[in-house]
Amino acid sequence: MIKEAWTRWRSGHIGRLLGESLRNQGWLYGIAMIAMVLVAATTAGTAWMMENIVNTMTEPDKRSQVYLVAGAVASLFFCKAAASYVQAIFLARAGNRIIAVQQERLFAKLIKRGVGFFERTESSSLLMRVTQGAQAARRLVDVIVTGFVRDALTLVGLVVVMVYQQPMLSVLFFVVGPIAMFGVRFLLKSVRAIMQSEMKALSEIIKVMQETSGGITIIKVLALEDHMSQRMNGAIRSVEQRANSISKLQSVASPLMEFLAGLAVAGVLIISTVGFAGSQPTTAGQLMSFITALLMAYEPAKRLSKMRVVIETTLVPIGMMFELLDQEEPMRESPDAKELSSGPGKIRLKNLTFGYHGKPKVINNMNMTFEAGKTTALVGQSGGGKSTIFGLIMRFYDPASGTVEIDDQDLHGVTFASLRRKISYVGQETFLFSATVMENLRFANPAATDEEVMEAARAAHAHDFISKLHHGYDTEVGENGAFLSGGQKQRLAIARAILRKSEILLLDEATSALDAESEALVKAALDKLTKNVTTIVIAHRLSTVLEADNIVVIQEGEVIEEGNLDTLIKKGGAFRRLFDQQFKQPAS
Ligand code: ADP
Ligand code: MG
Repeated sequence: MIKEAWTRWRSGHIGRLLGESLRNQGWLYGIAMIAMVLVAATTAGTAWMMENIVNTMTEPDKRSQVYLVAGAVASLFFCKAAASYVQAIFLARAGNRIIAVQQERLFAKLIKRGVGFFERTESSSLLMRVTQGAQAARRLVDVIVTGFVRDALTLVGLVVVMVYQQPMLSVLFFVVGPIAMFGVRFLLKSVRAIMQSEMKALSEIIKVMQETSGGITIIKVLALEDHMSQRMNGAIRSVEQRANSISKLQSVASPLMEFLAGLAVAGVLIISTVGFAGSQPTTAGQLMSFITALLMAYEPAKRLSKMRVVIETTLVPIGMMFELLDQEEPMRESPDAKELSSGPGKIRLKNLTFGYHGKPKVINNMNMTFEAGKTTALVGQSGGGKSTIFGLIMRFYDPASGTVEIDDQDLHGVTFASLRRKISYVGQETFLFSATVMENLRFANPAATDEEVMEAARAAHAHDFISKLHHGYDTEVGENGAFLSGGQKQRLAIARAILRKSEILLLDEATSALDAESEALVKAALDKLTKNVTTIVIAHRLSTVLEADNIVVIQEGEVIEEGNLDTLIKKGGAFRRLFDQQFKQPAS
């Protein structure tokens, strides 16, 4: 049993967290611990002083000492108060530092994770780990440090006083005490299981909240209010129940101990007045000192007996936090990664094969070259793998086999920063940060002047609508551009791409949210933008791809046709069928 606990301690989270915290916040804990030793000593001192206090009051020949004793009591309590204050302040500082350090580390780790990781992991679970995990880490270190230093030393000090004042009576206490401690053990087993389900339910609450605020229109349209309420209430009730179960377990310990302490005092009273075999003559002062020590011992003993329960409640969130910290990112930048050369931006896919999360092939042994400075259109049925090719070019994912090369450099050996600098991307969905329009545009090119930003916005036909906003370019866009229409957001994304001035431009249905008129305008802007830029366009509306230098038809992860417009039309294959569908049919 002891061996098992010891191994868990050493190899597990407790030892690791404690080691890290004591190392990093050493001096804060050092001062807190010195103060704790003082608290323990002064607490024991108070109990010990009871003898002098009572004797001074009851024995006439000791009256002369009254000022001395009063002065000593006052100083003792002053020291105790000061030490308690210092201990509380420094412990809180160290604890808050633990939270800050863990959260910084978690985020530093998270922000480096690949796109695939965020697709697999729910954001509510990440939120839980970052908030609850760090809090639990602090709670764990707090309870161990206060337990083993302040409470344990206080208990030892008080026991010394008890033994010194009444050795025989103390024996009685030592028999009753451990029995009470053992009573707590059986509680521990269930605590961990309860914690696990409480964390899950908390996660669910966050998730329902996120889905409610993000999907409110769909919830209203599909009349899912009741469904969402049920999910929320279920999760809330589950957390409530778990929290109640845990407090039940935590609360059993105190009354149990209190009752036993009461029994002990009653026993002391009887035994000391009636006397028992071998008992020495006792003064009232000694007896008071003993009872005071006994009663004071109750608090630290209670906390120590509950310590394991508290530790158990922290281990689940801490485990979840460490799991996140320890996961290795499979898609890391290679240590000898080089800057991508400032070439013209020729892209080459060589025997490229890829599937999401080890699933079947979405891209199947693809070979293709996107010539520098030319525009290539990718067309084909949805689900064919066109967007996936973009993901691979931007190295959001690594291929299962084969390579992606830009200017003859394998992306594997290239730094992420230089790769992403080389590329502008406009997708179907535009993400806007909660900041002003100006700031949102400038993310694409932090060095751009206000004038350059506005010029880009003009080119993207965004300037007019931006100027009509309440505060123009200084308007806050709200959570992910809540005040803007899809077409407006898309034009902001195009303005970003214009600002970025990269050698490669990837457009994934970038004009799909625009009405015909703005699409024509934006297309004119894009035509300017794509000149001498390696451009790949994905579009369902073939009208936007007709001027491409090269058209590639993708189906089920393979290139089935490739050529310019005339060739493909004459060939009468898959592209011809798509073309006829869109242009020859009577308008519906
Ligand atoms: P397209 O852009 O041609 O419509 P995609 O490249 O988006 O096609 O998708 C190709 C296939 O990969 C589809 O079957 C789609 O379900 C799957 N897929 C796309 N994105 C993901 C993803 N993030 N995780 C798992 N599967 C995905
Ligand atoms: Mg797509």
